[in-house]
Amino acid sequence: MLLIECPNCGPRDETEFHYGGQAHVPYPEDPYALTDKEWAEYLFYRDNTRGLYAERWSHSLGCRKWFNAVRDTVTYEITTVYPMGQPCPVDLRTGERIRTDADPDAEATAGSADSAGSASAQSADTTSESEVGR
Ligand SMILES: [Zn+2]
Repeated sequence: MLLIECPNCGPRDETEFHYGGQAHVPYPEDPYALTDKEWAEYLFYRDNTRGLYAERWSHSLGCRKWFNAVRDTVTYEITTVYPMGQPCPVDLRTGERIRTDADPDAEATAGSADSAGSASAQSADTTSESEVGR
C-alpha cells in the first residue's frame, strides 16, 4: 500500500487516489496536421521507464485536485510531488533536484550542483517536447 502525499491534504492512503498516466505529454500544437499514426501515438504511446517517472495523480476521494508526482517504477517510492503546470523539479535520469527560481527549497539544497542542475532542466524539457513528433 502506497502512502501518497497530496500537496493540499497531506499524506493519504493510495486508495483515495486515481492514477492519471504520464505527466508532461504536451497536446499537439496543430492536431489536424497529424497523421492518424501520429495522433494514435500521442493518445496511446507512453514511456515505459524503469526508474524515475513523472506521472499525474488525482486525489479523487479527497480534495479532487490533480497534481504531478515523480515515482520510482522499481521501488514504487514517490520521491517528489508538485503542482500541475509546473515543470518537473527532478532530473528523471539522475534523481537530482533541478533548481528553479520559483522553488526556494531547491535553492537552499542545490549547493554546488548548480550548473549541472540547470543543464539537466534543459535536456528534460527537450525530451518531453520530442514526444509529440513521434
Ligand atoms: Zn488532496
